[in-house]
Amino acid sequence: ESFDKAVEASNVKNQKAIGIMTSGGDAPGMNASVRAVVRTAIYKGCRAYAIMEGYEGLVRGGPEYIKEFTWDDVRGWSSLGGTDIGTARCMEFKERKGRLKGAQHMIEAGIDALIVCGGDGSLTGADLYRSEWPSLLQELLEEGRISQEQYDRYKHLNICGIVGSIDNDMSTTDATIGAYSALDRILKAIDYVEATANSHSRAFVVEVMGRNCGWLALLAGISTSADYILIPEKPSSSREWEEQMSSIVTKHRQRGKRTTIVIVAEGAITSDLEPITSKDVHKILSGKLGLDTRITTLGHVQRGGSPVAYDRILATLQGVEAVNAVLDSTPDTPSPLIAVNENKIVRKSLVESVKLTKSVADAIKEKDFKKAMSLRDTEFIEHLNNFMAINSADHNEPDLPAGKRLKIAIVNVGAPAGGANSAVYSMATYCMSRGHKPYAIYNGWSGLCRHESVRSLDWASMLGWQSRGGSEIGTNRVTPEEADIGMIAYYFQKYQFDGLIVIGGFEAFASLNQLERARDSYAAFRIPMVLIPATLSNNVPGTEYSLGSDTSLNALMEYCDVIKQSASSTRGRVFVVECQGGNSGYLATSAALACGAQVSYVPEEGISLDQLTLDIESLAKQFEKSEGRNRFGKLILTSDKASKALSAEALAEVMTSESNGMFDAKAAIPGHVQQGGLPSAIDRTRATRLSIKAVNFIEDQQDVLVDARHDDDELDVHDRKFSKTAAVLGVRGSHVLFTSVRKLWDTETEIKKRTPKIIHWQATRDIADRLVDRKRID
Ligand code: ATP
Repeated sequence: ESFDKAVEASNVKNQKAIGIMTSGGDAPGMNASVRAVVRTAIYKGCRAYAIMEGYEGLVRGGPEYIKEFTWDDVRGWSSLGGTDIGTARCMEFKERKGRLKGAQHMIEAGIDALIVCGGDGSLTGADLYRSEWPSLLQELLEEGRISQEQYDRYKHLNICGIVGSIDNDMSTTDATIGAYSALDRILKAIDYVEATANSHSRAFVVEVMGRNCGWLALLAGISTSADYILIPEKPSSSREWEEQMSSIVTKHRQRGKRTTIVIVAEGAITSDLEPITSKDVHKILSGKLGLDTRITTLGHVQRGGSPVAYDRILATLQGVEAVNAVLDSTPDTPSPLIAVNENKIVRKSLVESVKLTKSVADAIKEKDFKKAMSLRDTEFIEHLNNFMAINSADHNEPDLPAGKRLKIAIVNVGAPAGGANSAVYSMATYCMSRGHKPYAIYNGWSGLCRHESVRSLDWASMLGWQSRGGSEIGTNRVTPEEADIGMIAYYFQKYQFDGLIVIGGFEAFASLNQLERARDSYAAFRIPMVLIPATLSNNVPGTEYSLGSDTSLNALMEYCDVIKQSASSTRGRVFVVECQGGNSGYLATSAALACGAQVSYVPEEGISLDQLTLDIESLAKQFEKSEGRNRFGKLILTSDKASKALSAEALAEVMTSESNGMFDAKAAIPGHVQQGGLPSAIDRTRATRLSIKAVNFIEDQQDVLVDARHDDDELDVHDRKFSKTAAVLGVRGSHVLFTSVRKLWDTETEIKKRTPKIIHWQATRDIADRLVDRKRID
């Protein structure tokens, strides 16, 4: 009865009702997307409904399965694994009869728009539902199951897809919600297995999920420098893979590796479409190669637990965008699918995405593997080529002829960042596969000037670096000018470097700028140079992503989750968590979004007394409202440079004393914990991708500078052609780009503040505040 009343009320007010369902296999981050949809819908003046148990909920219908949700119903959901509104594999929905019932129930409940969060199966279902809708409604009308008025109001199905699946198997999006969390669980497991494998000099066959898609196996292979992977997209005959794997494993053992890791995707197949099982792999490693071999099948552990920061943020931003999309929709707009390309949330066509995904599966069935691969996202192919180049290349037969082989140096500058070791390892092994000679400059510019700390990198001494935190080659903040730029030029000359890769944050950016500007005096710097941004502050101009920022964010987020739990156990408790990040509020903002923090203070805005007063009042009100009903802890994040006067401790004291006894605030300072332990999956795999791009850039730009290097005359440093050869490699919007360091320094940098002029995460900040109903004084 109350259900009918609710529907009536919504009709009277002409408020749109937006439904969200999760469907297919559960994936970490689904809850965060439900939270974002529910709260954004309510914020926009709509009513929010959860469709329980996936399509099953539509088929069954009624208030038990189509439930109105309030703002408070999704409190704390961003950190929860799985999906709390349930999911199911619903056979009935695969039949027209089931879909007809679904349509009737949706209309009865007054749902105007449906957002489906699920994998390729669920979105195929959504697409079918969309295409069939007019005929379903016609049938319902003819059978008298809906009224003419209902028919008129609902004749266009407003539907939108968000991709939630651990498999990352949907075309047109780079990542699906849950995939990086699953990858995180896999990496942790392989890191554990690696230790025991190393102790006993054992081989491990690790089986991971992925029925039709080898993304998890491939990215796990890159992140852990596995010896071999078997995935559905790149099958070969039984004889071929057995021989190839044996030869690679043997070669690695001969070079001194004590462990062997082979990762098998659940859906791995031969070119005859015969399954390849872990047991098949075991047979070869143990029987043919005589290795002490064990099988570890990871199974459902991969689905488990709290989502990583990336998934929480992706799910949230996509949930918000899905609501915007359904509200923008007209009968003429094609149904959207919310995707992500690099760092940009984009709308794609649901029909096209489903079609493309299906054509990959069809090509595999038809054994047209080339076509299957060509239909895959370019990033997948890039990862696969990278994996093969760094893990299975024959260093005795490099790709390039003798005349094209280069000497490439790599240096770390600034604080350690997750993924920096992975970048060095990938750069060096890729160089080996190409025929280049990789050198490391140990302990930064000061190490070079004081101790001539240059060593060529060899394969065996880098074993395990891919998964290690910190900086194996050492790092510090000294810039070339502070060290001795003339001395650096002398060593560059002595070692005849043809290219340089710098890894680090703002000091690394300044370093590259100094070297580029010194090109007119020192011919040794007339070589291609690339900066791969790496800093938890994520404040390097020219990129929206720096290596290490994801590892840090996860470390901070885990800390905040624990603190929040503690706060929730005590009535009226607020924690003020102090975050690092220099003059950049990126980390505080992203962590606030990932943890659902009530407030975040950042250096870009400072802390005004008016804003502080408003935040205290609003917190007090919330505690007052919840008094006696439930306890919930609140988090406040503050960058350590948000205010000169108000440290986390001072903020906590002011808040407590101004709260009128409604709550009690305490400071919590994670400090260097924020540098993180093991690097995250994102930092490891992006490090590989970016460092290989950097080596390719150095190869491509050689010719531009060859004459200039051997010419003692001054170089026209303002020539765009030359200045482009010293570049920052960054993610900007939906692209990975090289941008001239000179251009960035001159036009896009707040040099004093050490930040980019334009803050790329402002929109994220607005969403973080909106989803906790925080008002900001502009
Ligand atoms: P995951 O990627 O985690 O496996 P998925 O969404 O691909 O998730 P499926 O089991 O393939 O999971 O699909 C989930 C549900 O979507 C099915 O149980 C069914 O109700 C619906 N569905 C899937 N394919 C179709 C289809 N072709 N037509 C109608 N409904 C479908």
